[in-house]
Amino acid sequence: MAKIIDGKKIRDYNLALMKDEVAELNSQGIYPCLAVIIVGSDPASRVYVNNKKAACENIGIISREYALPEETSTDELLSLIDELNADEAVSGILCQLPVPKQIDSDAVLERISPDKDVDCFHPENVGRLSIGNGAMLPCTPHGVMKMLEYEGIDPAGMHCVIIGRSNIVGKPMAMLMTAANATVTLCHSKTKNLSEMTRNADILIASVGKPKFVTADMVSEGTIVIDVGMDRDENGKLCGDVDYVNVEPKASYITPVPGGVGPMTITMLMRNTITAAKEQKKIKK
Ligand code: NAP
Repeated sequence: MAKIIDGKKIRDYNLALMKDEVAELNSQGIYPCLAVIIVGSDPASRVYVNNKKAACENIGIISREYALPEETSTDELLSLIDELNADEAVSGILCQLPVPKQIDSDAVLERISPDKDVDCFHPENVGRLSIGNGAMLPCTPHGVMKMLEYEGIDPAGMHCVIIGRSNIVGKPMAMLMTAANATVTLCHSKTKNLSEMTRNADILIASVGKPKFVTADMVSEGTIVIDVGMDRDENGKLCGDVDYVNVEPKASYITPVPGGVGPMTITMLMRNTITAAKEQKKIKK
């Protein structure tokens, strides 16, 4: 039977530490502030933005919301980002994705100043991550590393197999695992003999976007299984990329969905906002 890695507990632990850190920064006259831009009225985006604002309020980070109409043009959005880049009271800027189709999202993400890029999507921050000297870290993969750290799992020397090579999860996950001295295999839809790869994993990370994709026959006894997926099963119920019921008995550790990796993503967004505020005032950890 696997030990369940409880994302909510680890989130609460990390947020409590950050709350103290923000109070300490406030006492030095530093007020971390996250500017969140939302364009249009997509209901899922509204939920994500509200959750981010609530997390800020919970730990004393100032949150500012900029809600723009559906018909906003790329130029209008870029000029708001220019204003926020120049605003010394703003530590971090986030543009909730997806944006309406008339907006050039790459241009938007590249316009956010790298030192305020709390999602770590700017090419400069991605480059820094790849050479191992970035202050900003990608939120979901960083959340996974924090979960392992909390459980006392050191990936050094382990074989980490990642399924999925997205820019948001798979690729940066591979970079963080490499930096942590794991030996990494990055799999994708063209990978041959996927099950052979996954059965060789000490740590298996699934970020595929397909419900219950990782089945028990793909997992060896004792594997640490991290499920990044947020999918819907045949009944519309939230589930992960891992067939949890059948994989859990073989795993040594496993993250559930919901309540696993999900809560860590916003937590690491808070981390980046505090880091940005400190870097802008040149305070080291
Ligand atoms: P994505 O951009 O759609 O990437 C999916 C990856 O899976 C691609 O690299 C794809 O390979 C690979 N893949 C698809 N079918 C495969 C197969 N049959 N065998 C092997 N690899 C296969 O997805 P994403 O953004 O990484 O998201 C993945 C999941 O994580 C989704 O459920 C998403 O909702 C969830 N997610 C959760 C969080 C969180 O906070 N918990 C954050 C981000 C994402 P190719 O590159 O070859 O197409």
